Amino acid sequence: MLLEGKTVLITGASRGIGRGAAVECARQGADLALNWYRDREGIEETMAEIKALGRRAVELECDVAERSSAARFINKAVKELGHIDVFVSNAGICPFHAFLDTPQEVFERTLAVNFSGAYYMTQAAANRMKDQGKGGSIIAISSISALVGGGMQAHYTPTKAGVHSLMQSCAITLGPYGIRCNSVMPGTIATDINKEDLADPKKRAYMETRIPLGRLGEPRDVAGCVVFLASDLARYVTGASVLVDGGLFVNLQ
Ligand code: NAP
Repeated sequence: MLLEGKTVLITGASRGIGRGAAVECARQGADLALNWYRDREGIEETMAEIKALGRRAVELECDVAERSSAARFINKAVKELGHIDVFVSNAGICPFHAFLDTPQEVFERTLAVNFSGAYYMTQAAANRMKDQGKGGSIIAISSISALVGGGMQAHYTPTKAGVHSLMQSCAITLGPYGIRCNSVMPGTIATDINKEDLADPKKRAYMETRIPLGRLGEPRDVAGCVVFLASDLARYVTGASVLVDGGLFVNLQ
């Protein structure tokens, strides 16, 4: 029960990594405030899993790209759960597209959701943690893509480098308030975000051979790292990033 008594907020918790992190936090004793956008059925399933673990959960439908969503999310969490200890910026999109003819709206939407959304939400969560005066933990779900490129992802990889950089700067500016800021860099985790890309069995098998641990990741592989960074076990960890990629990044040859 590493998170007993803590309240954890997670954006994009209706599916994938966000849902996996939410359920593991609940298993570790946390109450949850969850954001979602389009997947009502998904958030209902996440909420049911958390409640079955005996934890409290509230949800808010909103688009993280809208600046006003951040205050709404933090206010709802505080109103219903009393305080916030941990904020996980997870919501993200990755529409694959070639660079040379990327439509402006694809670029701008990816930037707005992945980077602006993380920025607004982090700022609102940090202000609340500062006012509470008890420190906190902020975790951005960045990506291995913060460190490497992707031919069909020139509009996506900079957003992931951006949220990692955001955590580094926030670690400095929020350190005096006892607020730790770190990023998690998942490798290839099988979720809806890459379902289409990995539908080709040859591509999937190739990716598996590139990963030293021999398999794609699952949301729960990332969840353990989120719990660690959220917990007091990581009380001296800030400004750090943790790759959760089965060894993919170091496997150059
Ligand atoms: P996913 O299964 O597609 O889930 C994405 C989540 O983000 C959903 O809950 C979705 O909510 C939410 N979301 C999308 N746009 C939103 C918006 N405008 N406002 C609020 N919520 C929004 O993808 P995932 O793989 O779990 O990805 C989660 C995060 O991990 C992303 O930031 C992604 O960049 C990062 N990541 C993933 C991988 C991977 O291999 N899967 C690797 C590295 C990093 P709704 O469904 O309700 O709309």
